[in-house]
Amino acid sequence: MKFETSITETRQTIAKARQDGLSVGYVPTMGYFHDGHLSLIRTARESCGFVVVSIFVNPLQFGPKEDLAAYPRNIERDCSLAAQAGADLVFAPGEGEMYRPRFSTAVEVGRLGTVLCGASRPGHFRGVATVVVKLLNIVRPDVAFFGEKDAQQLIIIRRVVEDLDIPTTIKGIPTVREADGLAMSSRNVYLTPEERGAAPVIYRALLAAEDAIKRGERRTAEVLGVIGGVLQTEPLLKPDYFAAVGLHDLEERPTLQGEILLAIAARIGKARLIDNLPLDVSDTVKRIAI
Ligand code: AMP
Repeated sequence: MKFETSITETRQTIAKARQDGLSVGYVPTMGYFHDGHLSLIRTARESCGFVVVSIFVNPLQFGPKEDLAAYPRNIERDCSLAAQAGADLVFAPGEGEMYRPRFSTAVEVGRLGTVLCGASRPGHFRGVATVVVKLLNIVRPDVAFFGEKDAQQLIIIRRVVEDLDIPTTIKGIPTVREADGLAMSSRNVYLTPEERGAAPVIYRALLAAEDAIKRGERRTAEVLGVIGGVLQTEPLLKPDYFAAVGLHDLEERPTLQGEILLAIAARIGKARLIDNLPLDVSDTVKRIAI
């Protein structure tokens, strides 16, 4: 596996793979790998000839009071895990390589970036969209892989790629969970053992809502009441939001119908954790991909 920090050399390495007739798969990450990241890399390996993984903790997507400085990092361990999962190239640029002096352009994502996580993290999705467009321009992959765990991010990236005619297919990959249901996240390391014990309540709340919908509940307010009730059982957890919205427009409606997203964000100790469940709600209720 190759390792690059320079944009120019990364482009040369990828150009060579293309000359060899290989399709390019790409997994953008902020590093500190867990099985969720590795599932993306393995899926890329199965379907693409050359697999690029980037590791870049993007300062543009962190607010001034957020955890940029504390964000966990371990590039050596990440490289060895990426190689085992089948990566051909790890691209880990420094901040100065990505944001050169006088950098000033941003990708504005509109309303999709102002709801849910965008409401409590102003500018977050502008930062995400800007770095992802940059990275897609550097790597120029045939296919890029994103986790459904960050559902709003995935929905926004699909929108950006379609709106800006970026010639990359975006693939969503199902959320990988711990045995007790907690969605894997690099931020789970912030949790004390007691907080870690409390964290699976987020997934339990999603399952309780799914269950209520399966039993016929279609009123959004009632379903939100179910989620709120389960979250309340855990005093260590402070909900940021919980929502039941249309999967594609992220808008709330009085009743649930068609493709929807149940989504929760909550603080436990130092961590802000998110999770979601995409569902198709008609006569029957089915889990779906994003
Ligand atoms: P991050 O390093 O947190 O920016 O995540 C990099 C990619 O991995 C994003 O596309 C995430 O959605 C995805 N990802 C993070 N956690 C999980 C998970 N538990 N299951 C599947 N994908 C994930």
